[in-house]
Amino acid sequence: MSSELMVRPSFTICGAGLAGTLAALYLARQGHCVTLYERNPDLRAAAVPRGRSINLALSTRGLHALDAIGLAATIRPLTIPMRGRMIHSPQGELTFQPYGRTAEETIFSISRQQLNCALLDAAARWPNLEIHFSARCVGLNLSAMTLDIEDAPARTTRQVSAQTVVGADGAFSAVRQALQRAERYDYAQSFLPHGYKELTIPALPDGSHALEKNYLHIWPRQDFMLIALPNLDGSFTCTLFLAYEGPESFAGLTDDDAIRGFFDRHFPDVTPLMPTLLDDFKRNPTGAMVTIRCFPWQYAGRVVLVGDAAHAVVPFYGQGMNASFEDCFVLDECLRRHNGDTTAAFLDYQRQRKVNADALAELAYENYLEMRAKVASPWFLLRRRLEYALSGLVGDRFLPLYTMVSFTRIPYAEARARAERQARWLDAALATSALIACLALLWLLWRRLG
Ligand SMILES: Cc1cc2nc3c(=O)[nH]c(=O)nc-3n(C[C@H](O)[C@H](O)[C@H](O)COP(=O)(O)OP(=O)(O)OC[C@H]3O[C@@H](n4cnc5c(N)ncnc54)[C@H](O)[C@@H]3O)c2cc1C
Repeated sequence: MSSELMVRPSFTICGAGLAGTLAALYLARQGHCVTLYERNPDLRAAAVPRGRSINLALSTRGLHALDAIGLAATIRPLTIPMRGRMIHSPQGELTFQPYGRTAEETIFSISRQQLNCALLDAAARWPNLEIHFSARCVGLNLSAMTLDIEDAPARTTRQVSAQTVVGADGAFSAVRQALQRAERYDYAQSFLPHGYKELTIPALPDGSHALEKNYLHIWPRQDFMLIALPNLDGSFTCTLFLAYEGPESFAGLTDDDAIRGFFDRHFPDVTPLMPTLLDDFKRNPTGAMVTIRCFPWQYAGRVVLVGDAAHAVVPFYGQGMNASFEDCFVLDECLRRHNGDTTAAFLDYQRQRKVNADALAELAYENYLEMRAKVASPWFLLRRRLEYALSGLVGDRFLPLYTMVSFTRIPYAEARARAERQARWLDAALATSALIACLALLWLLWRRLG
């Protein structure tokens, strides 16, 4: 290992993914010297690696953080609005469930690669921001504040010094691993029994979408589900969420007949639209879904975690990236508020964000149950309609949980607590109405008989 010490940047960021690049933009705007290290080659020149989610749902929190750095206008044309869920029953019947109370309350499908490339393009315009690709952080020494950077393809490792490190290197963060070796570090990870696999519905020969474009399509089947998000090129990226083991599981889908039979049985309306199904299924990896909780998120004002490195959540609320972008916005605010005093700023950031990341982890897990099973239930639909009707009547005094999470910037923990209070209130109102209706019925019967 050469111990060539580089010019000291004010901030060294590990990971030029979504959170790392946005954090870099905010820091560069504040005038800091920023150096980014990314283990992969430059996305703008490389092929998309298979197996990472190809497209993502962007909503209010993410858009707000992009807007605050002047990028919303660049990003919007890369998106497709999705106005609601389109539920596909096993018989192929369609039910539309709007996401919002108004047409403006919409989420947006965007390609991960295009979004990341747009952020990297914006980053390349700052003279005080430099990016090293194919440069993987393999170690962080907290007392010396040095990072070991492995350069691919030569696989040589060099040591660089850093004043302040931002760990934006995803769920299995090398920066967090260094923190984990510090005393009394809290860390927990839990995997779902389900994995996910990405599949494709290509564009029709005329380039148009094979399904209605402005929806997130869902095929809920109790223990598993398929979803599809639209892409700008006319295709849809589908994700199958399925148990690893069990009667209907990835373990059982080992040959062409089993795969084809499973899709024909459960998703007969969409299988004919997937000509590359067998190839995609066999070639694309099965991804695991993990929730990661850790604490603290900072170390002595010298190291801080953002995005999945701090709080990986399961993807069922479509909020992991949105929350990661919100982290960047809040970190920027904290650094300003504390005039660049990183100790105070990182503590403030951690105080604001940790409680909300924990709440999001719960919300995402609850939505994992809701999306697979409940979205198809008539009781769920009735209750949801009631919530939206109530919200229409009393406005912001009653906000459906999905609205608070996806279309406002109400902190996740507050949204969750408020939704619980609203649910108790609604249950009581429904029980009271049912009781009054029963009493009225009894009274009518009594009058008629008497
Ligand atoms: C199937 C699926 C669907 C999802 N859908 C949505 C959605 O619809 N909406 C939403 O908001 N979120 C969604 N998410 C979550 C979202 O993908 C993540 O929350 C988001 O990517 C987090 O961004 P990040 O930059 O923190 O981490 P990552 O995107 O993981 O980026 C980390 C970056 O660090 C780099 N890196 C890793 N290790 C090192 C190292 N040692 N040294 C240097 N570089 C390193 C990686 O190459 C990568 O570029 C989904 C996730 C999954 C799995």
